[in-house]
Amino acid sequence: MPPRSSVILCVERQQLIAELEKAVADFNRITSAQLAALRNGEGLMFVEHLAAAGLRMDRTRRAIIAHDEEHGCAKTPRAVFLN
Ligand SMILES: [Zn+2]
Repeated sequence: MPPRSSVILCVERQQLIAELEKAVADFNRITSAQLAALRNGEGLMFVEHLAAAGLRMDRTRRAIIAHDEEHGCAKTPRAVFLN
């Protein structure tokens, strides 16, 4: 018999959050590289990569919002509780 208070995580939402974490980390890494390039007089060598990372971050953010609206699992931020 399962415990009365089982926790079920939304796997799809967890995957989207992991994608957003990676997109934000990439954006930050590329931002740092671009700052270093500017300070070293190397110009705008990472600007296109930065724009692409920004688009990926925004696309993932929108996917999370759409998922939350369709699935309703964000009412409890990390889990849906059954009893
Ligand atoms: Zn969900």
